[in-house]
Amino acid sequence: MKVLVTGGTGYIGSHTCVQMIDAGIEPIIVDNLCNSNQEVLNRIETLTGKMPTFYQGDVRDESLLDAIFAEHKIQSVIHFAGLKAVGESVSKPLEYYDNNVNGTLVLARSMKKAGVKSIVFSSSATVYGDPEIVPITESSPTGATTNPYGRSKYMVEQCLSDFYQAESDWSITLLRYFNPVGAHPSGLMGEDPQGIPNNLMPYVAQVAVGRREHVSVFGDDYPTPDGTGVRDYIHVLDLADGHIAALNSVGEKQGLHIFNLGTGKGSSVLEMIQAFSQACGHELKYQICARRPGDIAECWSSSEKAEKELGWKAIRTLVDMTKDAWSWQSKNPNGYHK
Ligand code: NAD
Ligand code: UDP
Repeated sequence: MKVLVTGGTGYIGSHTCVQMIDAGIEPIIVDNLCNSNQEVLNRIETLTGKMPTFYQGDVRDESLLDAIFAEHKIQSVIHFAGLKAVGESVSKPLEYYDNNVNGTLVLARSMKKAGVKSIVFSSSATVYGDPEIVPITESSPTGATTNPYGRSKYMVEQCLSDFYQAESDWSITLLRYFNPVGAHPSGLMGEDPQGIPNNLMPYVAQVAVGRREHVSVFGDDYPTPDGTGVRDYIHVLDLADGHIAALNSVGEKQGLHIFNLGTGKGSSVLEMIQAFSQACGHELKYQICARRPGDIAECWSSSEKAEKELGWKAIRTLVDMTKDAWSWQSKNPNGYHK
């Protein structure tokens, strides 16, 4: 089975490609490399023995997509490509809406022309906004997003839901990720953020390797057990496997399928720093700072629906997440850049 993977050289996409190849699925990657490095392809080849077919290009380039669909018999699309930095989305909203929303519309149009009727979309727990109740289920309210990035994900969900109403023979799957962390256990692939990391775990990893002085803990006065923010951290390989489970279970089933991909368990910022200290074998400096605007106190997933309907659940532990992230970071202190 051939699957078009947009954004396939990115953090989640690259790990998903490895797991796909191991599962006998052939990824065809299209990525414009705006937030990734072509070296990823060599790492995928080292890990799987197969160099994936790669097109360097933009998902908004409809003629490129048309040509790829004409060239390969593609059964399904996993759509990772997009911009994801919350802070940047506030200062560059047009870029975010163009890339994330328009990019998806162009892709869907090209798929329609080619008769490819199955898409798995990378959505996010951010569509739930500040949840009234945790754990969050798929029927929890959505839409109260707090920034252009979150709104772009919510808008794409709306667009694809409307599109499904008109094209009811499609399989449209919205996967709402919680907080992906960790790396491939080989230490060959991992998260490689450009500039100063926005997310907690890549920041912690850079402190561990000496690239940054200390972790700034954004607030210790939340109504949580230790006062710091609580999130549902999920190993990137578990997340990758969730895509394969989705392709296999609902990828050919007509319908609008919505799943949370999380572990069902929350961990605090201090717990994550502590777990990483154990993985890297030394204490990590941190400083308590003011809350980050727009942050919520706690958020974790109910993983029941995915378990029941996809037969998938996260199996890797916090120790796996931090151990693998440390292995990647210590072997590649500057990421994929030599
Ligand atoms: P990433 O930035 O590592 O990967 C995205 C990839 O898409 C990059 O390789 C980038 O070069 C590519 N890309 C961006 N715009 C493109 C375009 N117009 N055309 C072609 N390629 C383009 O991000 P990631 O962490 O792997 O996230 C993948 C998807 O999952 C994104 O849609 C993101 O919004 C979503 N998501 C991520 C998280 C997270 O915490 N990492 C959480 C929820 C949802
Ligand atoms: N966080 C922090 N310091 C950082 C980055 C994040 O204390 O340098 C906290 C943040 O306030 C939140 C948690 O870590 O409680 C996860 O933040 P991240 O940005 O990784 O994910 P998201 O906010 O999107 O869930």
